[in-house]
Amino acid sequence: MPALPEYKTRELLANIGIPIVEGIFVAATSPIPRDLPEPPVFLKAQIPGATSRAKHGLVRRADTREGLLKDLKELLAPGPWGQAEGVLVAKGADLVGEYYAACTLDFGSAERLPSGILLFSAEGGSGVEERASTLVKIPFSLMDPPPTEHIAQQLQDVANPALVAEFLHGLMNTFNRYKLMVLETNPIGVLADGSVLAIDCRAEFESRAVSRADRQLFESAPGGGEQLTPLERLVEKINEADPSGTGFLRENREEAPEGAWRVATNLCGGGGKMLWEMTTGARRDIFTMNESDTSGGLSAFKSYRVLRAILSQQGAQVLLLTGSGMAFQSQHHLAAAVWKALRESPTPLPALLRFGGTDEDKARALFERVAADLPVPVKTYRAEIFPNAMVDDIADLALTSPMQVEPPPEPEGEPVFSVKVPPADFYFYPEKCDGDEEPECVSVCPTGFLEWNVEERNIQPKEGARCIGCLMCETASLLDGNGELRIRLAMPAEVD
Ligand code: SF4
Repeated sequence: MPALPEYKTRELLANIGIPIVEGIFVAATSPIPRDLPEPPVFLKAQIPGATSRAKHGLVRRADTREGLLKDLKELLAPGPWGQAEGVLVAKGADLVGEYYAACTLDFGSAERLPSGILLFSAEGGSGVEERASTLVKIPFSLMDPPPTEHIAQQLQDVANPALVAEFLHGLMNTFNRYKLMVLETNPIGVLADGSVLAIDCRAEFESRAVSRADRQLFESAPGGGEQLTPLERLVEKINEADPSGTGFLRENREEAPEGAWRVATNLCGGGGKMLWEMTTGARRDIFTMNESDTSGGLSAFKSYRVLRAILSQQGAQVLLLTGSGMAFQSQHHLAAAVWKALRESPTPLPALLRFGGTDEDKARALFERVAADLPVPVKTYRAEIFPNAMVDDIADLALTSPMQVEPPPEPEGEPVFSVKVPPADFYFYPEKCDGDEEPECVSVCPTGFLEWNVEERNIQPKEGARCIGCLMCETASLLDGNGELRIRLAMPAEVD
């Protein structure tokens, strides 16, 4: 789920009429403007997805014009954090209080439509995760947020509930208008007259939900943006070759704290990411190696490739995979991808896997059959198990030093045929089949793409049918056949 930098999130809020602290964005590619706000000001480097900016000196206060120009030049130059898109120069404000508010998505259930949830706390500022008990939760319709009077009735410890409710109503409208996944304002500044304004804000969105008319609002500033790591570029290559669905990976640029467990994550969709952040946001003993998102109907071929990239992160001790628990995407296909990645990666990791949604029982059953033969321990969880329980198991499963194994040899000979999208090479070994009967690996193909050529005792692609990259044929061949069908999913060379 891409993150929108603060200066872009401010544009969304401003378009809906939400009051924002005065500020100006200076793009890395533009000359420094003359009309900068008068100090004291705050300078904030704009790096999408960057966290703990203050800790890394990416947020600074300037009290003089000279200090402002010096810091501005430093933050606009490339640094250890990469190249910022630019710097937001925001005026200081005389605040008498700070509130917190965020809108997130509730994905709903079989009985309940998705909706928004507004979280509000009269105690804003840093460390809000640790004050979860102060949060008021207000569900809202994605079509029509509740009237401000209704919101005001639910606010406690607030001096001017009507004004705050109006601000929160605007937040809900912004969240709905731009189909965001997360919209957070922290803090909301309270002025002496009781009015409120957004001091800091951020948003996360789903690229495919952005309408054509709004695209420019969600694009990065030209010439800016963080520099991708080799592994991130590799995932971009995977996406170029197989564009369906989301395959996203961003490595954590921070140093792992001493003694923290280093967890490589495969999070599926916004729900998976939210659950993971809720579970580990305040924990110092867990270090998340990477952000990730595999969702939106991607093929198992693509899940496999992204997983191989996730597993290849140096220093990772354990793999954790979870989604919202209600995925429409076949969890059986996903499990086949995870199994293939764990058995074919030269750096497999002990895995904690929470499958939830369509075919989740089949996904767990697959691992019951194969777990004992994997080089690493694997534990699966039912969708009802909250990720807290998974986190509690990390220490038992994690490797204390990285494992290197000899991956199984590539399939021998030439492929019988190849598929362009999603890309794959199919190999078939008739001598491993019993008799002339159509083998199970052909009959399980859900789209009818695989055909059995009885004369040649071989497989062939059916004209007009499509391979959806589900891996069911190879899974059946290995589990119920004799290994007669193999699929080679070529990886960009850097991954190993
Ligand atoms: S050939 Fe059929 S079973 Fe095999 S990956 Fe493609 S769609 Fe799935």
